[in-house]
Amino acid sequence: MQNSAEKYLRTEKLPHIWCPGCGNGIVLGAMVRAFEKLGCDQDNTVIVSGIGCSSRAAGYMDFNTLHTTHGRALAFATGIKLARPEITVFVIMGDGDSSSIGGNHLIHAARRNIDLTAVIFNNSIYGMTGGQYSPLTPTGSRATTAPYSTIERPFDLPDLARAAGATYVARSTSYHAAMLTKLITAGATHKGFSLIEAITACPVSFGRRNKMGDGYDMLMWQKEHAVPVEKAKDKTPEEMRGKFLIGELYKTEAPEYTDLYNQLIRKSQMISREE
Ligand code: SF4
Ligand code: MG
Repeated sequence: MQNSAEKYLRTEKLPHIWCPGCGNGIVLGAMVRAFEKLGCDQDNTVIVSGIGCSSRAAGYMDFNTLHTTHGRALAFATGIKLARPEITVFVIMGDGDSSSIGGNHLIHAARRNIDLTAVIFNNSIYGMTGGQYSPLTPTGSRATTAPYSTIERPFDLPDLARAAGATYVARSTSYHAAMLTKLITAGATHKGFSLIEAITACPVSFGRRNKMGDGYDMLMWQKEHAVPVEKAKDKTPEEMRGKFLIGELYKTEAPEYTDLYNQLIRKSQMISREE
């Protein structure tokens, strides 16, 4: 019998291109376990990705996959979902891809509450394109474009998505991989726009410049700095300084975009028949 990795991965494409210690494979593994829990039908599931190290993950997944242009994964995914609303669509993006080049697509996909599940691999840097800082790079970090450290404040991506209208928002890390699977599964089951941020390690482009050690050390950093939402309730602002929340951060119900769109089509057809 096939295991979930054999079923959902294009094993003939392996080994993958990621550097030793990279967290992308852990996030990919969490997604595969979510596909298994969801019982994803390979013919009726689409994975769309943008550009960057993390977006290469789509190529390893055995579904209908699209490796699209930088920042435009959500635009492609929106088109697919509008044409075939019954299809399950996952969107893989990196931090730069989703919040800078594709930032406008992100806020409008969230505002529309279109039923897509976006998994953001946040490694705090543009890894593949040369180590530039992104809108999610922590203040004070070094990057090729910030040799004396960044002075910009990063977005809190879950807060941004929630404010823009996303109805399911969550965050985990590659250290907390089991939680990540749970959140991706819940996000995919939720009807509406779901965003799951996966904090992951890039020891080569980010860790090396910021003296964070190797892949293992960066996983330990995630363990020490992530605070589950339930535990954060008992912590003081002082104890939370420099830490970040993980878990299900926000969930609500709102009309979904393709449902509204199809209602509008039916309404317009009725009006034109009456005329
Ligand atoms: Fe992973 Fe960073 Fe290497 Fe890209 S550059 S594969 S994110 S370790
Ligand atoms: Mg990145």
